[in-house]
Parts: sequence; C-alpha cells; structure tokens
Amino acid sequence: MTEFSSAEIEAGRLLFARPWQFIKGCVRVDDLPPGDRLEIAFAGRSNVGKSSLINALTGRVNLARTSNTPGRTQELNIFEADNAPMRVVDMPGYGFAKAPKKIVEKWTRLIHSYLKGRATLRRVFVLIDGRHGPKPADITVMNELDGAAVSYQIVLTKADKPKVEELEKVKLQTAQIISKHPAAHPEMLVTSSEKGYGIDILRATIAQF
Ligand code: GDP
Repeated sequence: MTEFSSAEIEAGRLLFARPWQFIKGCVRVDDLPPGDRLEIAFAGRSNVGKSSLINALTGRVNLARTSNTPGRTQELNIFEADNAPMRVVDMPGYGFAKAPKKIVEKWTRLIHSYLKGRATLRRVFVLIDGRHGPKPADITVMNELDGAAVSYQIVLTKADKPKVEELEKVKLQTAQIISKHPAAHPEMLVTSSEKGYGIDILRATIAQF
C-alpha cells in the first residue's frame, strides 16, 4: 500500500473541503463541460454504494442523491467546486438486470464515447462491493477500460459489512483479478462510507493528480 504523508492526507482533505456542487447531468458527450480541467470518474454496479462514497468524499450528506434520482441515473453527472483543479464525474450504475435493453444500449454508447474520447479523464474508480468482490458485470467494465486504455483503480466499498476474514478473502480474490488487467492500478482501495474508513486515502490519491 502507498503510504501517504500527513501533508498528502491534508492536501486531500483540503481538496474536498470545498463546497462541491452538482453542475449538470449529461446524456450525450456533447453535453459535457469543456475539457478545461482534469476529471476523475466513479463507476460501479447499481447499489454498490457510489452515491454514499461521493457524499463521504465531499462531506456533503446529499450531494450525490441528486444524481441518484430517477431520470438522472443514466447520465454522466458532473460535480465541481470553486477553484478545484479537477471535476468529479458520476457514471451511471451498471448491472441492473431489470433495465430495458434500449436503456442499456444507450448507456453503453454514452460510456464508450466518454471513455474513448475524454483526454482530461485521469482515472476511473471502479467500485466493487467489499462483501462479494468482482461480479461478471464488473469484469466486463474492467475489460472495456483496458480496451479503451483508461487508467482505473478498484475501490472496495462497504468494508464495514463483511467479517475481517471475509474481507481478506475478497481482497485476495480481487488482487488476483486486478493482476490480469493491464490498465488497472495495481493497488485497490478499501473504504466504508458508513464508518469513514479509507476516505482520507481516496482523497489523498485524487489530490496527487
Ligand atoms: P449507489 O446505487 O451505488 O449509489 O448506492 P448507494 O450509495 O445509494 O448505497 C446503496 C445502499 O448501500 C444504501 O442502503 C446505503 O446505505 C448502503 N451503503 C452504502 N455505503 C455503505 C457503507 O460503506 N457501509 C454500509 N454498511 N452500507 C453502505
């Protein structure tokens, strides 16, 4: 694990101590704001804890709820803060079995054009449930990110839920999968939005950019 200095942890804290705001939801890449700053994006299966993690990161109780309301879930949702050198992009949750085929196709097209064409996209954080490890839908997304040569990093969520030995098993299994994916950052992050665990490391990781 990367050891962060207290100065790096503090830089992460300061980056996210700004008043982060929901800017807009984009259904087409043409709707995206100009590529005038770095971007980091969050992706994950529906219900993985993506909204909770964005809320924990920004210290805003309800920030990502805006993007979790019906109608906003198939969009790229943009968050910015005054003077922040980067923006946060909340990608639509995937793997929802009940979604109509048309919606899934639209989502897939949007994601593909975003991932392939966004020069300012610095890293995608792919959230995976810490109780279960990667599911087939997660592996599909990892393969797509490899194909698009987009740098990404796995974040295990809800780490407060499994027992210690269960979490260790999931971490081992996830590490093995990561090692087979060329564009995946070799280190995974482990977080709990509920307990605040790992949030400072995630902030420091982002502040490094
Ligand atoms: P999203 O669909 O990925 O945006 O998921 P949400 O953030 O809405 O979370 C889905 C469910 O998981 C909610 O009931 C959350 O309260 C719960 N949840 C999210 N993060 C955590 C966590 O770190 N620990 C625990 N125990 N539950 C969590």
